[in-house]
Amino acid sequence: MQSFWEKDLTHYEVAIVGAGIVGLSIAASLIEKNIKNILILDRSVIPYGASTRNAGFACYGSLTEVLSDIKTMGADNARELLFNRWMGLQITRKRLGEAGMEYESLGGYELLENQVEARLDQMDAVNQLVSDFLPGYLRDADDLKSELGIHSDGRLISIDQEAQLNPALLLRSLEQYVTENGATIRTGSHVKSLNDINDKIQIEVKDGSRKMITFSAGKVVVAVNGFAEELIGNDLVKPGRGQVFITKPIPELKFKGNLHIEEGYYYFRNVGNRLLIGGARNFDFQNEETTEIELNDKIQSHLEHKSQEIFQLGDSFAVEMRWSGIMAFGNDKTPLVQRSGNNMYLALRMGGMGVALAGTIGEEVAEMIEEDGL
Ligand SMILES: Cc1cc2nc3c(=O)[nH]c(=O)nc-3n(C[C@H](O)[C@H](O)[C@H](O)COP(=O)(O)OP(=O)(O)OC[C@H]3O[C@@H](n4cnc5c(N)ncnc54)[C@H](O)[C@@H]3O)c2cc1C
Repeated sequence: MQSFWEKDLTHYEVAIVGAGIVGLSIAASLIEKNIKNILILDRSVIPYGASTRNAGFACYGSLTEVLSDIKTMGADNARELLFNRWMGLQITRKRLGEAGMEYESLGGYELLENQVEARLDQMDAVNQLVSDFLPGYLRDADDLKSELGIHSDGRLISIDQEAQLNPALLLRSLEQYVTENGATIRTGSHVKSLNDINDKIQIEVKDGSRKMITFSAGKVVVAVNGFAEELIGNDLVKPGRGQVFITKPIPELKFKGNLHIEEGYYYFRNVGNRLLIGGARNFDFQNEETTEIELNDKIQSHLEHKSQEIFQLGDSFAVEMRWSGIMAFGNDKTPLVQRSGNNMYLALRMGGMGVALAGTIGEEVAEMIEEDGL
């Protein structure tokens, strides 16, 4: 049962479903366009998808990843994707400042293990493709392998402008930014359905105390990434789980920065003197196409094996925590950002780089809403 007064708490100009980095970045961009009557709903008390469960790479794409994107999307689209990631991080850093998210420019690397010569031959072309925003992007860095404690016959290249951040602090800074500027975040609010009625959207939300509560908004943005099927019921978005672990402190750890292998399917970074390792979805694609936040023992042990192979840390290597998170994918890596009906917008399918993309996606959605008018 709703009270007379609660009417003032249940209608907004814009509602955003999903309080991950993308939902919050959309709210931030709307606020910067002076649209401040915003409600953000998340089913979890702490966002429970990818934004607080990722690896915290501030990155744009490794050589093998860009080469694969060029193959599947063409050079222009691959370049645009890289630009949007780069621009997204510029927006987020400018908006929140670097200190608030522990942004550290420790650099990035890729270890080429297969088709080394063929891939190196294309490095100049990739550098050329991105030279106007990432000059001198990729460079040979094979002489740094021993300094970084990397044991491999593969070829090491460095990736300019890569950095690391703390995803939880980034999220907290974004939450603070949007709430201080007038937006309302309601957590524990599982959106069950969205219905366009009389030019506004009715939002049915499961509420622990009163079973259901109905909100309404002139415009609604669906920013639930890998969990989209429940709300929009189409097959444009496929969930993809990512596995991660972090080691106990390793006093003798030499490696600092980010390391990618094989189109980003393996990634490593230091977190102080710990190693964080993730990926290997390609090791068990079928079982990882899920929204269940659970561990996959096969992938976790494969990741441990790979880490020991590359860093050879022996008994100093001990896993402290393991976790997973849910990403969203499509046929290629282009995010799904579009209108859906008159008053609804989709901002989904961030792949493995939503941290980088969020700033750009926020701007894109806010521009659509501003253009359509409230
Ligand atoms: C293991 C892992 C490592 C990654 N590493 C990196 C990295 O280093 N760099 C990088 O750029 N990207 C990385 N990513 C990808 C990045 O984290 C995601 O692309 C990004 O967080 C997506 O943000 P989002 O806000 O779209 O989705 P999410 O963070 O998943 O947020 C969606 C939110 O919607 C909520 N929700 C879902 N359904 C409903 C509903 N019906 N009602 C209300 N709320 C709902 C969920 O609770 C969730 O909080 C990684 C991802 C994973 C899983």
